Amino acid sequence: MSASSTVTTNRAETPREDDLGQERYQAFIRHSSEGIWRFEVEQPIPIDQPEQRLIEDFFRFAYLAECNDAMARMYGYQRAEELRGIRLRELVPPSDPLNIEYLQTFIRNGFRLRDGQSHEVDKYGLPKFFINNLYGIIEDECLVRVWGTQRDITDARRIQEALRQSEAQFRQLADTMPQIVWVARADGFHEYFNERWYSYTGLSEDESIGHQWGGPLHTDDRSRTSKRWAYALETSEPYEIEYRLRSASGQYRWFLNRAMPVRDDYGRVLRWFGTCTDIDDYKRMVDALRLSEERFRLSAEAFNGIIYDWDLATDRVERTRGNFELTGYHIHEIEPRREWWVQRIHPEDKPMVEQSIAQSLLFGRHGYDIEYRIRHRDGRYVWVWDKGLILQNSELQAVRIVGNCVDISARKQAEEALKDADRRKDEFLATLAHELRNPLAPIRNALHIMQKQKASPQMLKEARDMMERQVDQMVRLVDDLLDVSRITLGKLELRRQPILLQQVIESALETSRPLIEATGHTLVLQQTDDPLPLNADLTRLAQVFSNLLNNAAKYTEPGGTITLSSARVDGEAVICVKDNGIGIPAEMLPRIFEMFTQVDNSMERSQGGLGIGLTLVRSLVDMHGGRIEVASAGTGQGSMFTVYLPLVQPEEREEHPDNTPELQAAFQGKRILVVDDNIPSAKTMGWTLELLGHDVRLAHEGEEALALAREYQPHAILLDIGLPGMNGYDICRALRQEAGLEHCTIIAQTGWGQQEHRRRSKDAGFDHHLVKPVDMEQLQAALENGRERP
Ligand code: ADP
Repeated sequence: MSASSTVTTNRAETPREDDLGQERYQAFIRHSSEGIWRFEVEQPIPIDQPEQRLIEDFFRFAYLAECNDAMARMYGYQRAEELRGIRLRELVPPSDPLNIEYLQTFIRNGFRLRDGQSHEVDKYGLPKFFINNLYGIIEDECLVRVWGTQRDITDARRIQEALRQSEAQFRQLADTMPQIVWVARADGFHEYFNERWYSYTGLSEDESIGHQWGGPLHTDDRSRTSKRWAYALETSEPYEIEYRLRSASGQYRWFLNRAMPVRDDYGRVLRWFGTCTDIDDYKRMVDALRLSEERFRLSAEAFNGIIYDWDLATDRVERTRGNFELTGYHIHEIEPRREWWVQRIHPEDKPMVEQSIAQSLLFGRHGYDIEYRIRHRDGRYVWVWDKGLILQNSELQAVRIVGNCVDISARKQAEEALKDADRRKDEFLATLAHELRNPLAPIRNALHIMQKQKASPQMLKEARDMMERQVDQMVRLVDDLLDVSRITLGKLELRRQPILLQQVIESALETSRPLIEATGHTLVLQQTDDPLPLNADLTRLAQVFSNLLNNAAKYTEPGGTITLSSARVDGEAVICVKDNGIGIPAEMLPRIFEMFTQVDNSMERSQGGLGIGLTLVRSLVDMHGGRIEVASAGTGQGSMFTVYLPLVQPEEREEHPDNTPELQAAFQGKRILVVDDNIPSAKTMGWTLELLGHDVRLAHEGEEALALAREYQPHAILLDIGLPGMNGYDICRALRQEAGLEHCTIIAQTGWGQQEHRRRSKDAGFDHHLVKPVDMEQLQAALENGRERP
């Protein structure tokens, strides 16, 4: 049965049946998606009665006389027949005020209604919403039937309701959010802000909605923000920006603004949903953190060493760049593991390091503070000072160690050098005591012999010779010591003059020959004929070579060969002292010139030295602008010392033609007055000078000396300073007043050799200053050089 049959078999007559063709009418009703219906009343309802009664009657008498299938389906039925005959009140519950209102409107509109909304129930008692068009038929002042159509809007209503609810929920949610929430249309028109926007900015809705949201923006942020927003609107890409917003109280705070476009099924942007999150505190914190990190990074980089952070759980170690300076490895080249470091620790130090760290961790110590060696990339070991602090978590478990490592190699070396120097000083003192005592025993013996009546003249002579040798030896030791001390204090002054190297060597040989001969060595001289001119201190330079020659003699088994050669090489004088003696082990070569260095410092093998000779040699050579080198193929292979001295250029020499050594005349047979209150000392000096061919007179105090000088008119006076009564300085001053003594050479002899004493004697008018015991060579030289200021 089709729906159309339902309509054709209804009980009422349709007024339009005649107007429309039966077929067309049926088809229209059947295919209509709207519900089409006709309500009849069981008895006519007078329309002049009160509205309320009218409605009541309507509910009481109206029943569905006719409808189409579409309508039946709206109520959950399949076909029209199932619904036909149903009472109005069963479909439209009178209890619902909406329905009363619906019928009231129908009545008030003269029994016509367009788009009236009814609230009905379906087969299952579920609510249904319809939009109805009603057309009432009035006959004899009574309502007799109602025609109508209806559209089911239940789903639409439900969607609308859901939408309304979701909208309400959204607003509720948005208002509870701590962020600012906003919604804008696709064109950028801001149509919604949540409560937070209004409370923060203090703006009203009128001041906010639309395009006015930029008002509270910081002026510095405006341009980039509007550009960014325009770009987002144009490209529909998510929008994110940080800017400052002014609060109601006028302060600015930083916000992070983020917005996402919401699109329809075709991908078109419907709206923008955005939030502004207050990041002011966060930003300040980040800035402060960045600053503090930056500060830390800079100080860590500036730090001369490594700062490390060792995570004990992962064993990962972060290190600063100083790693390169310390180990030769850049941090990106190495494993950030603890193990990398441990592998580089010196095997001897590793147990100590591991134990210190383990103990700190085990006993909950604050940290550790250790020194050990770490292997550098180039293989050498670097001394480090490693100080680590242990960081604990709230459960007092060690979680990380933060520390620093500094290169202390230089300090360690200095410490070692100090210890070494200290050790050598101790050795030196022992040697010194030994060397000074050595000559004393034979001197004492000799004294004994001399006191004996029975001693033969031969014995006495030998005893004297021996004493002289021992005293010489002691004097040499003390002289060397004093020289070294003067050099160390920078108080040794060279008396430079133009001389020839050959003179220096001659003088040195004079000193060293006795020792060389005594030890049965052969001396080979290979000197150049080329005169090598120097501007040098003859005595000091001779001391250099006699020292080298003496060493060669001392450190060569008797019967060896000592070769002394000289040559001019590249504007320098090169002098070589070579022996075939005990040689020097390679490891000693670099230190041989250091003070107190002796290869074999055992007392038993002592050769009568203090280990300062070579120090003196090098210092003197240095002072002359030269240098010295040592070479030896090792123990038993002999040694060779080579001295390089700068030669004087010919034009430099010509400046002092008068002083050339060739012009210095030999000095013989002078009248000499010796003044000394120590009678034995004066006597021995007198004899010595007489033996040298001079004529000598003695005086023991000032007046005597002055009287004798006037009468004797000596060429030279050897004057002791420490005299009773008139001292040496006074006597000298007085002598200088005497007529006829202008050309007399006055030589001071004293126990004091310091600069200060030399100055004082010079001031008093002395020409020369000799330190006791007077060296005869020096005395000779003083006599030869004569008056300093003739
Ligand atoms: P001293 O001879 O008083 O010990 P030096 O300073 O002159 O002190 O020499 C230092 C050390 O150098 C000596 O003790 C010796 O071991 C070594 N030495 C010096 N000259 C020679 C040499 N020609 N052959 C071997 N060893 C030498």
